Amino acid sequence: SGARVRRAHNKRLPQYLERGVDVKFTDVAGLGKIRLELEEIVKFFTHGEMYRRRGVKIPGGILLCGPPGVGKTLLAKAVAGEAGVNFFSISASQFVEIYVGVGASRVRALYQEARENAPSVVFIDELDAVGRERGLIKGSGGQERDATLNQLLVCLDGFEGRGEVITIASTNRPDILDPALVRPGRFDRKIFIPKPGVIGRVEILKVHARKKPMAPDVDYMAVASMTDGMVGAELANIIEVAAIYMMREGRTEITTDDLLQAAQIEERGMLDRKERNPEMWKRVAINEAAMAVVAVNFPDLKNIEFVTISPRAGRELGYVRMKMDNMKFNAGMLSRQSLLDHITVQLAPRAADELWHGEAQLSTIWAETADNARSAARSLVLGGLSQKYYGLNNFWVKDRINDIDSEALRILDICYERAKTILEQNRGLMDAVVDNLVEKKSLTKQEFFNLVELHGNVQPMPPTI
Ligand code: ADP
Repeated sequence: SGARVRRAHNKRLPQYLERGVDVKFTDVAGLGKIRLELEEIVKFFTHGEMYRRRGVKIPGGILLCGPPGVGKTLLAKAVAGEAGVNFFSISASQFVEIYVGVGASRVRALYQEARENAPSVVFIDELDAVGRERGLIKGSGGQERDATLNQLLVCLDGFEGRGEVITIASTNRPDILDPALVRPGRFDRKIFIPKPGVIGRVEILKVHARKKPMAPDVDYMAVASMTDGMVGAELANIIEVAAIYMMREGRTEITTDDLLQAAQIEERGMLDRKERNPEMWKRVAINEAAMAVVAVNFPDLKNIEFVTISPRAGRELGYVRMKMDNMKFNAGMLSRQSLLDHITVQLAPRAADELWHGEAQLSTIWAETADNARSAARSLVLGGLSQKYYGLNNFWVKDRINDIDSEALRILDICYERAKTILEQNRGLMDAVVDNLVEKKSLTKQEFFNLVELHGNVQPMPPTI
């Protein structure tokens, strides 16, 4: 009969099934609390009956939101792997075809396969490629996409509440999705996956290190510290590249040095995607080098972990990472001396701009650090740490405000001159650090201190205020 023929016809090999998906939650690192939400999705499969009996609605779709490479695909696979169900995947850009009807029929085929092989996870990568708000694209391309999107909505609705097929989609732009997609019963659950922090990066590196011959004393924190802004995909790549360095030199273990070198290469790749002209690179290099060069003169600040001019997450300029004594800092127990040193370091970019470019060519690159210096100077005076105002309470209020400001300015002046003097004494070191930064974009602790050793003229110089 017709029905039998159709069934036989449907027995073709599934096109969108990914075989051998064997990912577990332990393969995904640095997720923190997000993991709980995903464990719940696994339960929709493993304890589906229980949810249904108690009348709890199982979401039809889950949206994983976040930048590329943070592990959205990996997570979707881990959900399927943990639940022991089939994994079907497609990239939404494959839906978008120039021929009307092709995208829609692919969506239908995908869901038909997923249902025939249920329970299953359907994963749609880059949902925004097809899920953009309808009507925004003009012409026949737009029509085709609308047809595809409509088909997707139909398929999503078809599974509502069943818990047999759950759709997971990824996107970096949840804000531009068609409102119909995020209606209840469709993609009604959003999970945000941010870039990993430093601890997350350590964990991700360790997950990927499991399968590699790592030296027992590898310093993952050192690698994590210099990979600010990187995502899982980039960190995984660092381990691969480090393994190649090991092989090249005929060694049997991957060392911290291999990893640091690989991290620099990865970072270069990241930088090539950012536009800056040579003059801008140099300006940023002078800015960051100045802070590092001045900081090595001070006991509480000289612990420089790395210096970079690569644009980092949330920072347009570069970054000097100093290991401060956090205990002291948090307890408000920094001495007057180290506060003055801090102010001096924060004024170094301004001083360097004047020394290297001259008064007439000053930029505003140092505006942020100068602000830090100003507020630190004010707190120093208000905190009664400035010698001149130990007996602050004896002043009339009106006089006090003016006096505090003028005392803060006096301290800023002294620290500024001090920054300038240190930079002038260390022109050789500055040039070396700037050249190296422009060339390599970042310096590890070791590289920086090698330059200090070679060119530095460190003469600790307490200020008198
Ligand atoms: P996305 O889908 O967010 O673009 P992927 O899941 O495709 O990112 O990540 C690419 C690769 O990067 C993964 O296969 C994995 O090797 C690595 N990766 C990304 N994030 C993580 C993570 N949180 N833990 C472990 N590995 C990760």
